[in-house]
Amino acid sequence: MQIFLQPEKAFTNVHDTFTVPVAKIYALANEKNLSAIDGYNDSTRSLQGLILEAINDKTSIRALGAGWSFTKVATCPGIMLDTKSLNSRFTIGPRAVSPAYQGETDKLFFVQCGMSVWELNEWLRDRDRSLKTCGASNGQTLAGSMSTCTHGSALDVGSIPDYIVGLHLVVSPTRHIFLERASYPVASDSLIADLKTEIIRDDELFNAALVSFGSFGIIHGIMLETEKRYLLECYRKSMPVDKNFRNALQTLDFNAINLPVKETPYHFQVVINPYDKNNNALVTTMYKKPYVAGYKPPVPNNAGIGPGDDLPTFVGKLANVLPALVPTVVTTLINSNYAPYDKQTGTLGEIFDNTDTTGEVMSMGIGIPLEMTTQVLDIAAEVNKAVGPFVGVFAFRYVKGTKATLGFTKFARTCVVEFDSVSSASTDRFYNAICDALEQRQVPHTVHWGKINRLDAAGIRKMYGASFDKWMAARNKILDKTGKVVFGNELTDKWGIN
Ligand SMILES: Cc1cc2nc3c(=O)[nH]c(=O)nc-3n(C[C@H](O)[C@H](O)[C@H](O)COP(=O)(O)OP(=O)(O)OC[C@H]3O[C@@H](n4cnc5c(N)ncnc54)[C@H](O)[C@@H]3O)c2cc1C
Repeated sequence: MQIFLQPEKAFTNVHDTFTVPVAKIYALANEKNLSAIDGYNDSTRSLQGLILEAINDKTSIRALGAGWSFTKVATCPGIMLDTKSLNSRFTIGPRAVSPAYQGETDKLFFVQCGMSVWELNEWLRDRDRSLKTCGASNGQTLAGSMSTCTHGSALDVGSIPDYIVGLHLVVSPTRHIFLERASYPVASDSLIADLKTEIIRDDELFNAALVSFGSFGIIHGIMLETEKRYLLECYRKSMPVDKNFRNALQTLDFNAINLPVKETPYHFQVVINPYDKNNNALVTTMYKKPYVAGYKPPVPNNAGIGPGDDLPTFVGKLANVLPALVPTVVTTLINSNYAPYDKQTGTLGEIFDNTDTTGEVMSMGIGIPLEMTTQVLDIAAEVNKAVGPFVGVFAFRYVKGTKATLGFTKFARTCVVEFDSVSSASTDRFYNAICDALEQRQVPHTVHWGKINRLDAAGIRKMYGASFDKWMAARNKILDKTGKVVFGNELTDKWGIN
């Protein structure tokens, strides 16, 4: 593997919301003069060497994805590994698949950790395949987005970890493992031999490793299941937040509201501007259709915002707004950047592409059970009256509950309530007040690991109960004593993990 020591002694996340000191940042790349599989195996060995270096330096080591997290989950004071160029990808033939695999072989692909979700979408499109779901903007790496449970709003799919079926983990200078579920075996003996690794089939270990924010070692390769390429037919509509709409928000029963197409959407997302005088919501629905050539690809609006782009793409423009002007400025921004639109069509990767953001964006994502949605909407409105004006809007996305042990989309039907804003003391105050209110009203909830949160050990235990113990037990099985220390950081200490 090519290992490039970077000159920087500090790491700043992509959206410039924090900087932390770090002893060494290495940018990694596969050797160019080797075949794909030899290059991959050579990189496995080098990753082991880097873990040894951290142990010898008596310091920590952590893999970095694209650096899109708002929390310091990807950081450590010791060695940070920039994995973005580790992006080999492999098609999977019958020889690599266990005879006990219950799916279809052509669904499977094996990709290296640094592959960006956007790039993967592109690559799959050319093979007539597609991811089952992804977040709204897709500059993240596959390993990084899986590790914090990145989600979109595909009602019946779930989040990124929910289509991952195998993980190749480098856990020590002398050990790397291929982890998959015992109840859903995928890899054949030949594949395990090709990767020169050892197989571990265990549901509890696998489910724990899926969302483990760098704390289970270095994820080198990921086996994922895809779908045949499809199109999304997308609409955005302004709708009154009346009794029927509120009911739909917390049941996903769409019969009594007037969606653009009379069928259950693949994707349903609601944005509520608390300053909208008409009390309307902006509702984005997407319907899954078979892929046919010749459709008109999606076009961005006048502000350059595409049909799948989310609030973080443009909410940074709200920096430094005087409190008295917040309602007007938020409303003007939403009207110009996030306006309703009629039918737009594209593949998953065209609708949710690799957008960029402007300014110091902040975001908090709260996972709640579907049926609590309107209660949380009302709490957000009350908190806004008490400590606002919040410089942003409230967004609601929905996913099927995840099997990942610490997936924050853990409720059978999870609504993720998002508060996208700009970095400021008033945003911090608002986020704290929302968390206080949810605790005081005893609303069961979780928080996105990669977005702003004030998690601590007691809070995590309250949110995940016995699942947290299972996750810790899995980590204790996978890592040896030294591994548990080197794969820790400031946050895992605070979260009661080390
Ligand atoms: C503009 C913007 C839009 C966003 N949109 C969404 C959205 O739609 N939905 C959503 O859920 N979230 C969203 N997020 C949050 C984001 O998806 C998550 O924070 C995600 O984890 C970032 O992925 P990354 O590749 O940048 O990983 P990083 O932030 O770099 O790392 C995330 C975690 O993964 C670990 N990790 C990375 N690579 C490896 C590896 N190879 N082995 C082991 N651990 C590894 C890191 O150590 C870290 O703990 C958004 C963030 C931004 C800034």
